[in-house]
Amino acid sequence: MKEDINQLRELQEIDLKISKLTEEIAAGSADIDKRKLSIDAHKETIAKLNEKIAANEQRRQELDEELASEADRIKDRQAKLMNVQTNREYQSILKETEDAKKLNTQREESVVQLMEQIEAFKEKINEATNLCRGEEELLTEEMSKVGDQTAKLETEKLKISKARDTKAKKVNASLLKKYNVLREKRKGIAVIEVTSGVCRGCFMNIPPQLFNDLMREEKLLTCPTCNRIMFHQPAAEAE
Ligand SMILES: [Zn+2]
Repeated sequence: MKEDINQLRELQEIDLKISKLTEEIAAGSADIDKRKLSIDAHKETIAKLNEKIAANEQRRQELDEELASEADRIKDRQAKLMNVQTNREYQSILKETEDAKKLNTQREESVVQLMEQIEAFKEKINEATNLCRGEEELLTEEMSKVGDQTAKLETEKLKISKARDTKAKKVNASLLKKYNVLREKRKGIAVIEVTSGVCRGCFMNIPPQLFNDLMREEKLLTCPTCNRIMFHQPAAEAE
């Protein structure tokens, strides 16, 4: 019985090492993914700003065309002014001309505004481009670093996994099955110490009779609360 528990404890130690390596490998690729997402976000910002610039430029072109045709109409009216017969007609054309000039002044102001916005967008594009370039350089560095690191971790994992297989073969088949199921269900901890009558996995008290049985080390016992396979660990040796 004690031998079984010891084998399982050793196996669990190996399995925890393997889990840790797996997590480290995943963390490396998560860092890379995060960096890639950040770069994509900068690129999207740049694309959106370019769209805004294009829209502004299109609007500006429209305004330029309107300005030109309005200027032509103003010229026509001014020519007409020479030939008017009545004062009323004169006043009317004069007013139309003034209104048209006012409208064109507004158009000119809009054009200036659009140009200023375009400048501001361009500045933002520069900023985003610089950030993007910086992050791309970091990504290249990180990818080579993480690549080396991952290769090392994978090698280590493979080595430990082989040791795990060897160890697992020595464990009684049904016990190994029980252990594997518990490990999946209980966050990798299938075998747990009980100290001063408390299961260190779920921190619940073990009923006194069960605790006595556990101390005798005759049977394989599981925690009534978390179901983990228990072993007794005297308080002084804990932690
Ligand atoms: Zn428990």
